[in-house]
Amino acid sequence: MKTHARQFNESARHYTADLHHRELIQKALAGYYARRDEFKSRFQSWPAARDLAADIKREAINHLDRYLDEFVSRLEARGTKVFWAPGAKEARDYIIGVAQQHKVRSVIKSKSMTAEEIHLNEALKQNGFEVVESDLGEYIVQLRREPPYHLVFPAMHLTRRQISDLFHDRLGSEPTNDPEDLTMIARRVMRRKYCEADMGISGANFAIAETGMISITENEGNARLTTSLPKVHVALVGIEKVLPKLSDLALFLPMLATAGAGQSITCYNTLYGGPRQPGEPDGPEEFHVVLLDNRRTELLADAEQRDALHCIRCGACLNVCPVFKNVGGHSYGTTYQGPIGSVITPHLRGLQDWKHLSQASSLCGACTEACPVKINLHHHLLHNRRNAVRVYPAPLDNLLQTTFVFVMCRPGLYQLAARLGRLAQPLQRLIRGTVLDPLRAWTKTRSFPALAEKSFRDRWRERKTP
Ligand code: SF4
Repeated sequence: MKTHARQFNESARHYTADLHHRELIQKALAGYYARRDEFKSRFQSWPAARDLAADIKREAINHLDRYLDEFVSRLEARGTKVFWAPGAKEARDYIIGVAQQHKVRSVIKSKSMTAEEIHLNEALKQNGFEVVESDLGEYIVQLRREPPYHLVFPAMHLTRRQISDLFHDRLGSEPTNDPEDLTMIARRVMRRKYCEADMGISGANFAIAETGMISITENEGNARLTTSLPKVHVALVGIEKVLPKLSDLALFLPMLATAGAGQSITCYNTLYGGPRQPGEPDGPEEFHVVLLDNRRTELLADAEQRDALHCIRCGACLNVCPVFKNVGGHSYGTTYQGPIGSVITPHLRGLQDWKHLSQASSLCGACTEACPVKINLHHHLLHNRRNAVRVYPAPLDNLLQTTFVFVMCRPGLYQLAARLGRLAQPLQRLIRGTVLDPLRAWTKTRSFPALAEKSFRDRWRERKTP
């Protein structure tokens, strides 16, 4: 069986050589950059807004126990059933149990990366429930039986033609290249599904401790229908989603829209506080909140990398990452792609299998600069590299490092090595990339750095010699 690292390497090599794919991603992001910068400039001060957002998240994460208790007690006071799920299995089992108890046949779901993280759809289907994604991008990738490509834009790797062909094959619609027509095709299917669904499942963008409410921000109105039409609703919420106050949304909603989608604010911003109350005309009769840990508390215990829990899943770090833009979202093989995925996946799913992700970075720091909550992403990638080497030492790497240190600490040896390197350079040029080249894994796609003809020491000596 292929390791995750091998799968990543093979997929990355494939997508990087696919110029059409790269062009598609560049095109999809070109408009985003311009809009993001325009809306950033509407903030009185984007840097000050980032500082404030980082402070608020730091306060929330550093006092997570207190804010979660506050959030839960207010939710329960309005009749919401809260389940603390230590892991993915417990969360899945609880949700399936609720569905069985209510004799659910069909489930409608709004976008939730946390549900992707626990593989909820697969588990529901295995237990005989029909699950339909109601977010358009998610619905498209669900029809293609593939995972979302990007945290925010799940189907950004597809052309209109591909979507039209997909709808034609799976839904029997007429081919069209018009985005509005394509949306209407999905909308017609979806409207029926909303009415048929016995249970709705959503995620949450934020969980407000002060009011015990869930905030969902979206552009299609699908989350509103998902949360209000079915009789039973389940919201799956990662414990790190907490914000202390309702007023914090005044900063976080426009910030998420700006950084995530290049919008001033998303079209629908809704707060959900529990089941339908007496006298209310709509809303679910039963409301469940599943609070998911799934190793987040282990990350919380890591003082060095705890701030990775500040992430608001805006996807901005993916959009600027040169590696993501070349290898594409599916190469990662993870729920969370790009820089933030490479930082948190080794914590959430195990360092041994996912340590290779921290190497999928040029450490250029573009992700850190783009992050609205100021997570020091490229430093965290370095921390992960260091942790990987400490816990799983690679004998060859160790030998190279030890040799390097040994040579560098002995000037005579260093000079000898540099002379030998200079002598071997013409030969290396001759055999570069061929089977005779011991460095061909490196030189196949990169040029080997040339040694200067003369060392600094030699030039200095010549200069001083009259
Ligand atoms: S790490 Fe920062 S930029 Fe990346 S998704 Fe999270 S909040 Fe957005």
